[in-house]
Amino acid sequence: MKHILKCSLCGSYTTAEACPKCGGKALSPRPARFSPEDKYGDYRRRAKELQSCKEVCK
Ligand SMILES: [Zn+2]
Repeated sequence: MKHILKCSLCGSYTTAEACPKCGGKALSPRPARFSPEDKYGDYRRRAKELQSCKEVCK
């Protein structure tokens, strides 16, 4: 698995050290507490819980 880097200028994710979009320096993103991925994971987890509740509460 390649390391995902994040452009320090435009915020694009890339595996290259230089951003392919703006040429900015790409840095390793810190495991942010409120990253979009976490948000999405939380949303999916809640959706799953909601679905299982529907099945149980029938
Ligand atoms: Zn960039």
